[in-house]
Amino acid sequence: MSIDTKKLQALLQWYKQSVGENLVATLVVNREGLVIDALTGSEEESVDEEIIGGVSALVEPVLTRITKEFSSGSFGTGTFDTEEYRFIFCEAGPEAVFVTILKAIAGVDPVFPYAYLAAEKIARIFDGRTVSPVIPKLIANDNVKSIERKIEKLQKLKVKSEEYAFKLILGGDGAVGKTSLVHRFVENSFAKDYKSTIGTSIMKKECNFKELGSNVRFIIWDLAGQSQFKRVRKSYLANAEAGILVYDVTNHQSYDNIGNWHDEIINASPNISLILVGNKIDLKDERDVKLQEGNKLAEKLGLSYIETSAKTGENINDAFKMLALLMIKKYVITEEV
Ligand code: GDP
Ligand code: MG
Repeated sequence: MSIDTKKLQALLQWYKQSVGENLVATLVVNREGLVIDALTGSEEESVDEEIIGGVSALVEPVLTRITKEFSSGSFGTGTFDTEEYRFIFCEAGPEAVFVTILKAIAGVDPVFPYAYLAAEKIARIFDGRTVSPVIPKLIANDNVKSIERKIEKLQKLKVKSEEYAFKLILGGDGAVGKTSLVHRFVENSFAKDYKSTIGTSIMKKECNFKELGSNVRFIIWDLAGQSQFKRVRKSYLANAEAGILVYDVTNHQSYDNIGNWHDEIINASPNISLILVGNKIDLKDERDVKLQEGNKLAEKLGLSYIETSAKTGENINDAFKMLALLMIKKYVITEEV
């Protein structure tokens, strides 16, 4: 899929101007709930990753519902409210959904015509058709009325707690195998991942481990490249419910640094559930960190420990299963009580 991202950005800028100060952020996402492009309402040039990170987990389960209803042809435009935000979802052609996030105090009615118009233009951008990114000022006239008529059905969307998806992050030094681990885990169920504008790959994976009795959905965030910038790391690590601390068993330094990663992650996401992973166990002759050392560190940090190889696939599923189990214990079971 190649889309004209410059035009998309220009369109989002126009949209932001039209909506005004109540706009928190806009996202263009595909059917998988992956962010293709985003823009925030703040004046800063860069996308506010913290906001995007915070709302992505909220947006995702709504999108799953939309996707279901899309297939029966019933979805057009919908709204969803939380205590902090109001969301407007508009289908933008067969590929994408256009999401508007407004402050909770905002009225949605004046925004609808703009959202609808923007969604139509986004659909055209996806189709590769010519379209102007300019969004004209709509005043209360026939123009608005005709658009309002087109918004056939406005749905109030609800999300059940079991549809919730958890943000999963990875911590650990460069080259320990974080990206390989994730790709190994998601590869069969997931064809593509998108590098969003925020320097992060976001992948979705539903864990259907039968023996757990409950499905757990992870939105896996993988920081692209080796970003050394603290600012980027902080928003990457924020608002996460699940995390994997990874070191390389052939690299003692990466083991020694786990404590720092642990502190940084706990700082950014105090409620996170973590596991510790020692990766690259296929490199038997080069091993530099013993199994006992891994267990000892895990015990000290109060975490479960597992050793993996992203190369052979050994224990990869079990690592994620361990994490899924933690999520079920923490969220699903406590909610039922
Ligand atoms: P990241 O920087 O932590 O995301 O690490 P990458 O996933 O990019 O992996 C860094 C390098 O280690 C790559 O060359 C991988 O092919 C290699 N690698 C990752 N996991 C394993 C593993 O389990 N065994 C071996 N032998 N190599 C691995
Ligand atoms: Mg990586």
